[in-house]
Amino acid sequence: MSRPAPHPVTAPVRRDDPPPTDAWLVHRRARLVWGSVLVAVLVGPSVIWMLRTGPQPLLHQMSVLTGLLALSAMVIVAVLPSRVRGLSGALGLETLLGLHRRLGLLAGALVALHLAFVVADQPERVGLLVPLAAPGRGQAATAATVAIGVLLALAVRGVRSGTHEVWRWVHLSLAALVVGASALHVFWLNNLVTDAVMGPVLTGLGLLLIAVLVLRWGARAGAGEFRVHVVRPESPTVSTLVLARRGRHAGPWFRPGQFAWLRLEQMSVEEHPFTIASSAADGGRVEFTVRHTGDFASRLRELQRGDPVWVDGPYGSFTPDAVPSTGLVLIAGGVGITPMMSMLRTAADRGDRRPYRLVVHARDRADLLFRAELAHLRTCLDLQVTEVLRRPAPNWGGATGPIDTALLAAVLTDLEEPARRLDYFICGRPQLVTDVLDTLGALGVPDDRVHTEQFAQV
Ligand SMILES: Cc1cc2nc3c(=O)[nH]c(=O)nc-3n(C[C@H](O)[C@H](O)[C@H](O)COP(=O)(O)OP(=O)(O)OC[C@H]3O[C@@H](n4cnc5c(N)ncnc54)[C@H](O)[C@@H]3O)c2cc1C
Repeated sequence: MSRPAPHPVTAPVRRDDPPPTDAWLVHRRARLVWGSVLVAVLVGPSVIWMLRTGPQPLLHQMSVLTGLLALSAMVIVAVLPSRVRGLSGALGLETLLGLHRRLGLLAGALVALHLAFVVADQPERVGLLVPLAAPGRGQAATAATVAIGVLLALAVRGVRSGTHEVWRWVHLSLAALVVGASALHVFWLNNLVTDAVMGPVLTGLGLLLIAVLVLRWGARAGAGEFRVHVVRPESPTVSTLVLARRGRHAGPWFRPGQFAWLRLEQMSVEEHPFTIASSAADGGRVEFTVRHTGDFASRLRELQRGDPVWVDGPYGSFTPDAVPSTGLVLIAGGVGITPMMSMLRTAADRGDRRPYRLVVHARDRADLLFRAELAHLRTCLDLQVTEVLRRPAPNWGGATGPIDTALLAAVLTDLEEPARRLDYFICGRPQLVTDVLDTLGALGVPDDRVHTEQFAQV
């Protein structure tokens, strides 16, 4: 494909933007509300303590404040990945995971500062750190500190390929130890919990965490039960699992681009996230297109008609439903095409007239998925598909190489109407997403029009 010179593709001329839709306003409000709730939980207990106690000696004040902030941060860190559906729909998976990581590091830093201020305030308290000689409150503090150190070191190191399940259980066990030991430390300290105001505040923080965890682990039985209708091969390494909902058909229940967690036994602890690839207009039958990377994905390929699968979802905010776009640019790497297929299938079912530009990045021709269906969708949508191969055969006549500014400029040449508001959806390996983000940045695309989903560790 010929590549014109790069030029800015979306000058942010706000007065040309289409008016916000109701869905966009609801989404913005939900983000604001959830953001405020998180900030309130993070700083609320510390602010209440300061208002209640008034000015205190600096070192004492800092020791209590760092402890309270660390406690609040731990509660939020535990809540963020706990599948609170409203939170996931408002902030999206990537924001939640980014906050989870950053607040986890903040909690670790606050615990270290707390220790430093406690000892600086009263140096004789250093004895609390001697594990066997220390009273219960000191032992609990030491256990929490060691556990959070190990937890953060393992989290920063990341998961080695094929060890995700082991890593996940070590992570969850250490997190439970950190939160449990911190709670015991505060309880045995017996000063804040007996205070007429701080006692109920800390109890509220604890009850919030327990409620979220009970919903997260206790509501597993309520996940939707589906039965395998068929497993359809798409390529030598990719298959589509077609599932039919058991019982009453509840109508549309997800938005295009969202994902769900799949389990093969109702109470199994092993579950993996997959994007719902089918049209959101049909909630009774859903499809997941899966690359057989490891054990779990390979087991999905072996399923037989009638086998049960439990679907916990929908989650995430990687969806065009909430954005008031006049056109969509979808950029997918490999099996990252699954959310794009849901968006395009839904658009076709809804009779959407907006322009769609799909860029598919794949290793080679055999890796290009859904070619026949995309050709059909082009007859009922304003859809253009650009296929880009990383390792093309000599007879490949299409685009090759990375998704750079010249390629994107060429893809967008016919979308020059002044009132456009294009939104960009990118999904694939973390490296592809990072590269495309750089390219869009170089083209002057505003950040708030770019939406990403990475099939990385959750
Ligand atoms: C939001 C989201 C949507 C996804 N959608 C799709 C999709 O539509 N199609 C598709 O083929 N893949 C998708 N994935 C990736 C898919 O979840 C993993 O490939 C799958 O969990 C691998 O499990 P495994 O046992 O088969 O392979 P393993 O060999 O155990 O793992 C292979 C790699 O997958 C990742 N992984 C393993 N377990 C998990 C887990 N529980 N959660 C997250 N990542 C894990 C790890 O990075 C690991 O290195 C998605 C991932 C996310 C986060």
